Amino acid sequence: MKITFYGAAGEVTGSQHLVETERHRFLLDCGFFQGHRAESRKKNEEFLCKPKDLDAIFLSHAHIDHCGNLPGIYKAGFRGPIFCTPATAEVAEIMLLDSARIQAEDARFLSKHIRGDHPPFEPLYNEDDVYKVVKRFETIDYRETHELADGFNVTMYEAGHILGSAVTRFEIEDEGELKRLVFTGDLGRRDMPLLHDPYPLQGCDILIGESTYGNRVHPPAPDVKYHLKKIIHDAYEEGGKVIIPAFSLGRTQQVVYYLNELIHHDELPNVPVYVDSPLANRLTKVYERYQDLLDMDAQRMLKKDDNLFHFPGIRYVQTRDESKQINRAEGTAVIIAASGMCESGRVRHHLAHHVDDERTIILIIGFQAQNTLGRKLVEGHRYVKIFDRDFPLRAQVKKINGLSGHADIEDMKWWYEHLAGDEGINHTFLVHGEPESARALAGTIRDICNEDPIIPQRGESFEV
Ligand SMILES: [Zn+2]
Repeated sequence: MKITFYGAAGEVTGSQHLVETERHRFLLDCGFFQGHRAESRKKNEEFLCKPKDLDAIFLSHAHIDHCGNLPGIYKAGFRGPIFCTPATAEVAEIMLLDSARIQAEDARFLSKHIRGDHPPFEPLYNEDDVYKVVKRFETIDYRETHELADGFNVTMYEAGHILGSAVTRFEIEDEGELKRLVFTGDLGRRDMPLLHDPYPLQGCDILIGESTYGNRVHPPAPDVKYHLKKIIHDAYEEGGKVIIPAFSLGRTQQVVYYLNELIHHDELPNVPVYVDSPLANRLTKVYERYQDLLDMDAQRMLKKDDNLFHFPGIRYVQTRDESKQINRAEGTAVIIAASGMCESGRVRHHLAHHVDDERTIILIIGFQAQNTLGRKLVEGHRYVKIFDRDFPLRAQVKKINGLSGHADIEDMKWWYEHLAGDEGINHTFLVHGEPESARALAGTIRDICNEDPIIPQRGESFEV
């Protein structure tokens, strides 16, 4: 068996790994590279894995750095099945359509600002390409083993990262032996709201494992609910708004779920809650359809409440006019809006209206990359630029950690040790991490690996 790492190798985006056996060639994930525009564009355009010769793609989950280039590989000639869980198939379609729309907007914007004789900017794919590729999805339920070919079995398990996310185990007869290959995709955390813990899988010969937070310990998630409660009470006393910039997939639903719990226990003042992101609204509907996939706490809540994402006072805002109306209303309100780092989306309008008001609380609940508006808010700049205008930052900026969707070093240690059992893991490849965190994880799990873990570089191949 030969494994070649084409993405998420020494970095966290562009997940794509090629597995070649005696009889099969398949790809694990086909994600978008994100980051520096020209460099990512080049990486996203080239497919070194020979798309036409692939038998299949196995998709771990619907984040764009894992599924974002599926329409691209379809355009490059791939026509095989794409296996994933049913929830991933639905979420991925929504995410890919959104990606196609953003690319079209970006291309229009960049083409207007072309200097010299630069050719017009083109999106990598459009909505039609998305509709074509999603027809290739073939769904696999959790914990059901499928014999996809003679001597080729596949099972997907809960990864606990986002709705539908999966750890995939292959049992493949190759070169006269049975090889158990495990691909973690992105691994979630224990005790997170809504999702089951990552399934404790055991038995693995070859591991392709994620290492995003191999050097970090996260604070516990349940604290978030209590901070949320306190912040809303504080804002209520002052009559200010609570603005929560949130990623549309996962983070928004977690916050709504916590608010629902607080309201059920009569722990919140009577304030309106707005979810102002059409993308989040579409994704929340998928969560509603797959409530049976949610964890035990959610199931207990479902006995009292048949929809975890609706409660008195919540409004899912659709149109721009409705969105503008929120800012005309006086008094306290909770506004959950995308994007999570405040770089795009409707949250910028809400910030522009309220960032200069000391009664406003801006609640940051996710990672903020350098140079983003979200980061500047956290760093407490005196002025922040929104829509090319400088606003004085008078609002209170609060930060709650604890909702990260990625396993930290303790979750990983627990999960990887269980996976290794008493036999250990023969070949370990650590992907999807900056070199520092991948090295930290390698050090932590060295004892359970029969050979030292390898941190592959992009384009490197290994025989196992
Ligand atoms: Zn992910």
